[in-house]
Amino acid sequence: MEYRYGDMKRACLFLDRDGVINRRPDPERYVRSTKQFILIPEILDVLHLAKAREYPVVVVTNQRGIAIGSMSQLDVDEIHNMLRTLLAKEGLALLDILVCPHDDNQHPWRKPNPGMLIEAAKRHDLDLQRSWMVGDHLTDVYAGKAAGCQTILVDHDDPEGAADFIAHGIAEVTQILFQHLESCEEPLG
Ligand SMILES: [Mg+2]
Repeated sequence: MEYRYGDMKRACLFLDRDGVINRRPDPERYVRSTKQFILIPEILDVLHLAKAREYPVVVVTNQRGIAIGSMSQLDVDEIHNMLRTLLAKEGLALLDILVCPHDDNQHPWRKPNPGMLIEAAKRHDLDLQRSWMVGDHLTDVYAGKAAGCQTILVDHDDPEGAADFIAHGIAEVTQILFQHLESCEEPLG
């Protein structure tokens, strides 16, 4: 059997951060410190499923609070270090976390632009066409679609039907992914 370079590419699960992995701070617009970072417990089921199906997980998050001075890159790094530690205790890991610190909507990394997903695909040799993007805003869906991914929109209206799937709560994300992520198991018989 002949293997081509393309055969090595892995499908990936892209996750938005605020509103998917952790609760959005209300009424504040940014999670500025580890104290404000509250994990959504149901996301652990999503991550365990991704692990079982051998889908690496990459977080792609807009954090314009860095550009406008609400927080520093160090604050964000600290939050992500805590997240990784927390997940490690559950036997879980993230392949990568990409942060867009820019305020400029034209920046290729700032969702709805797909730059972070494309960068992750380059870094880790990911197959975007077989990958999934989960987010709680239409900008996440647009970024995912622009990158060629399947998309799940969580707890948000979708008047134009932009998303491939709508989930009410993170538990429904697990249900959708359970049905649709490719299985790593060998077929029986
Ligand atoms: Mg979000």
